Amino acid sequence: MINFEEMGFTPGILKAIQELGFESPMPVQEKVIPLMLGGEVDIIALAQTGTGKTAAFGLPLVQATDTEINNTQALILCPTRELCMQITGDLTDYARFTGKLKILAVYGGASIDNQIRGLKKGVHIIVATPGRLIDLIGRGAARLSAVTTVILDEADEMLNMGFLDSINEILEEVPDGRRTLLFSATMSKEIASIARKYMNSPVEVTIGTKNSSADNVSHAYYLIHAKDKYKVLKRIADFEPDIYGIVFCRTRNETQEVASKLIDDGYNADALHGDLSQMQRDAVMQKFRVRNLQLLVATDVAARGLDVDDLTHVINYSLPDDNEVYTHRSGRTGRAGKTGISISLVHLRERHILQQIERMVKKPFKALPIPTGTEICGKQLYNWVTKLENVVTDHQEIEKFLPDIKEKLAGLDREELLKRVVSLEFDRFLDDYRHGEDLISPVAERDGRDGGGGRSGRRDGRERDGRDREYNGNYKRLFINLGKSDGFYPEQLIELVNSNTKGPKVPIGKIDLLKTFSFFEVEASFADGLIAALSDTTFMDRRVAVEIAQEKTDKPRQGGDYTSKKPAKWSDRKPEKRNQGRSESRGKDYKKESRFGRKDKKKYSR
Ligand code: AMP
Repeated sequence: MINFEEMGFTPGILKAIQELGFESPMPVQEKVIPLMLGGEVDIIALAQTGTGKTAAFGLPLVQATDTEINNTQALILCPTRELCMQITGDLTDYARFTGKLKILAVYGGASIDNQIRGLKKGVHIIVATPGRLIDLIGRGAARLSAVTTVILDEADEMLNMGFLDSINEILEEVPDGRRTLLFSATMSKEIASIARKYMNSPVEVTIGTKNSSADNVSHAYYLIHAKDKYKVLKRIADFEPDIYGIVFCRTRNETQEVASKLIDDGYNADALHGDLSQMQRDAVMQKFRVRNLQLLVATDVAARGLDVDDLTHVINYSLPDDNEVYTHRSGRTGRAGKTGISISLVHLRERHILQQIERMVKKPFKALPIPTGTEICGKQLYNWVTKLENVVTDHQEIEKFLPDIKEKLAGLDREELLKRVVSLEFDRFLDDYRHGEDLISPVAERDGRDGGGGRSGRRDGRERDGRDREYNGNYKRLFINLGKSDGFYPEQLIELVNSNTKGPKVPIGKIDLLKTFSFFEVEASFADGLIAALSDTTFMDRRVAVEIAQEKTDKPRQGGDYTSKKPAKWSDRKPEKRNQGRSESRGKDYKKESRFGRKDKKKYSR
C-alpha cells in the first residue's frame, strides 16, 4: 500500500495530513490522488460519502493551486450548503501550511451581497451549490474564465435535487481545456450522460461495487404489520440502548409525527424536515452532531446537509420512493472505517420493493425477529448493570451523606435493595413490556410459528431467498397480470418461471387462469424471490406484474406436489379443454374473495 509520503505531496501538505491524524490513505485516496497529481486526466469516482473523498480531491487540488495568481482556478459544485461549508473547512485545513489560499463557499439561503463582496476580493477556489452559482454568474460576480479544475461532488445528489440544468449551464461557462472530476455514490444514466457531454475520456474509479453500498454496512429488516410500525421502532430503540441513528421518513408530516411521539414517550429524539426554519434545522443538526440527540427523525431532503461519521443505525421507517435513495441513506452509517446497520421496517406488501433494493445493493438483507418485551428488559438491565459496574464513585460529596443513607436503608437486604433500584430505573420498560403483547411479524403469524413468543422472521439463519430451505408445504397465492387472452397457459407460466429463476425448481401449486389475469400458488419460501425475479420481465411484449394475492388463501396446504419442472396436473390437459368452464367459474369465486378482485382486475386488464 502506498503511503502519503510516497504520493508526491509537498512538505506543507504532508504536515497538514499529519496534523489531521490521517495515518494512511483511504482506498479512494489511494486511487484518486496519484491520478490527480500525475496528470491532466478526467476522473469519475464512484464512492459514498464517508469514504474520504474530500481529501482525495482536496489535497491534490490545494497543492496544485497557485496562490500567487489572484483568480479562480477551481470550482467545486456540491448539493447543499452544509456540504459547501464542510468542503471549505476541509480544504482550509489542508492548506494550513501552504500559501495564502482563498476559498469561498457560496450557497443559497444566505446573503448574496456578502458572497458578491467575497468574490470581488478574488478567490482561488469556489465551493458552490449550483443554483446560487448561476445567480452569481448572472450578476457578473463569479468569473470562471480561468478555471482549470471542476469538481462535481455528490453528483447524483445534485441531480436528485433537480440541478441538472444548472450544472449544464455552469459547465458551458468554464473553459473547455479544464480538467473535470465527478464524484458520485451511484452511476445512473444521467451521470453517464453528463460524463459523455462534459468529460474527456474519464478514468473510472470504483470504491466498492458500482451502485452497491459500503462494505461495512449490513442490511436488515423487520417484517411487520403496518399498524405496529411505531411500536417496532420503539422496540428497536429500546433494544439498542446506545443507538445513535437517523430514522428516515417519507414526508414532513410523518417525520414530525414520529418525532413527536418519540419525544412524548421519553426518547432522546427530534425532527429534521423542511417545515423548520434554517435556524431550527441548524440547531437540531448541531444537537445531533454533538450527540445530545440519539435519534434524528428526518426526511431525505432535510438530512442531506448532515454529515456525521459514527452513526450506529440508519432506520428506514418508510422505504424510499426511489431505490437509489436507499444507498444514500444506508451510506450514512458504516463510515470512516466503522461498522453500521441499515434497518428497514417493511410490511407484507412492500417486500417486493425491498427485494428490488436488495438486488441493487447486492448484499443479502437479514430478516430480524422483533425483540420481545423480555428480551428488551433483559438487554436494558444488562446494559445498566454494566454501567453500574463501571461507574466512578470518587465524589467526595457523596461520602458525607452515606451514613444517613445507610441508616435509612438499614432494613433492606441486598436483594431487596437491588430490586428497588432496578424498579426505579426500569419503570418505563417494565410497565411497557410487562403486560404488553409481543409483536408478531405477519409471516410468523401465518406460518403458525412462535406461538406467543413474539419472535418473527427466520431464526434458522438461512438466506432469505429460500433456495436452501426445506419446503414445508405452505403455499402462497400470487396474482399475475397475464391471462388466457394473452396466450398465457400453465406451460407458459412454468416456462416464464423457469427461465427467470436459477437454482432449484420453484414448486408451483394450483394454477387458475382467467381471461386477462391469473392466480397461481407457489411454495411460500419462493414467493418473494419469484416476485422480484419476474418483476422486470415481459411476456409477448407485455410487462409482467406479479404480486401476493389475498391472504385468505395463503393457508398452509399440504403438498408441494407440483414443481415448475413437473407441470401442474391441470396443465396436462389438452389446450382446447383448458378453457372449458373451470377457470371462469373459479374466477368468480376469487373475485369475491380477492382484494385484487374489482380494483386490481381493472388495473391490470387491458
Ligand atoms: P469524507 O468522505 O470526505 O466526508 O471523509 C470522511 C471522514 O474520513 C472525514 O471525517 C475525514 O476527516 C476522514 N478521513 C479522510 N481521509 C482520512 C484518512 N486518510 N485517514 C483517516 N481519516 C480520514
